Amino acid sequence: MAHIFAVVNQKGGVGKTTTAVNLAAYLAAAGKRVLVVDLDPQGNATSSLGIQRAGLPVSTYDVVLEKASASAATLYSERIKLHIIPSVPDLAAAEIELVSEFDRERRLQHALAPVLSSYDYVLMDCPPSLGMLTVNALTCATGVLVPVQCEYLALEGLGQLTRTLSLVKQRLNSHIDITGMVMTMYDPRTQLSAQVVAEVEKHFPSKVFKTRIPRSVRLSEAPSYGQPILTYAPTSSGAVAYAALAQEVLADRVGADVVNDVLVAG
Ligand code: ATP
Ligand code: MG
Repeated sequence: MAHIFAVVNQKGGVGKTTTAVNLAAYLAAAGKRVLVVDLDPQGNATSSLGIQRAGLPVSTYDVVLEKASASAATLYSERIKLHIIPSVPDLAAAEIELVSEFDRERRLQHALAPVLSSYDYVLMDCPPSLGMLTVNALTCATGVLVPVQCEYLALEGLGQLTRTLSLVKQRLNSHIDITGMVMTMYDPRTQLSAQVVAEVEKHFPSKVFKTRIPRSVRLSEAPSYGQPILTYAPTSSGAVAYAALAQEVLADRVGADVVNDVLVAG
């Protein structure tokens, strides 16, 4: 059965897209069949994977509004060996259009159902809000990945996220749970990073991935070249970290001791 992960945090700029794209690339490099679903009208996952958004005929917008099938909207990156349902700016309208639709929270679930048997991992990159698109992702997810930036007030907003998750769990998807929190932009030289990790571990015991994603210029540069870190700077600290995170995800045990012998290509 496919693992279907929603990458969620309503706080902006915490590393959702960076995590979705780079984790997807390493899972694909490990031989897994991977689908990225770009659920953000900003389309950062789409462009980070080197796809020109202008003029795309079908996108996540058509899929959630059932104007096109998931398979018709899916593109394949030969270079990165993964599939993606891209986003175009029109997706912002879906947030509003969905409100008046029948079964509005389950649109994505219905749309993805026919293609799930083709994948081992589906990673849904959510927008920085807890609106209809994120609720659609949570409704069809088997797990939730929450990137948390190692900075002051990191925990702020996580309460609202857990309340939304409980509501979704009660009403829409009884299986949903946080799979793991991914600590991003970690700086080992600062006390603050260590403090934030300790706080998050206190509030979410055994839910924090052992791998910390360091702050890395290479990670922030890669999207402008339309590449994941795996191909852009495979020996950089950010690459090593996302490769290790992929191993934790593959091991299916958050916080497990994972031998870091991975996949740093080239
Ligand atoms: P949004 O809420 O707008 O969708 P996001 O949560 O998806 O944002 P990203 O786009 O992944 O966040 O990251 C925000 C910015 O920080 C981007 O410019 C990205 O390149 C940069 N960034 C992400 N992770 C790191 C990192 N570990 N080190 C350095 N820069 C990073
Ligand atoms: Mg994003």
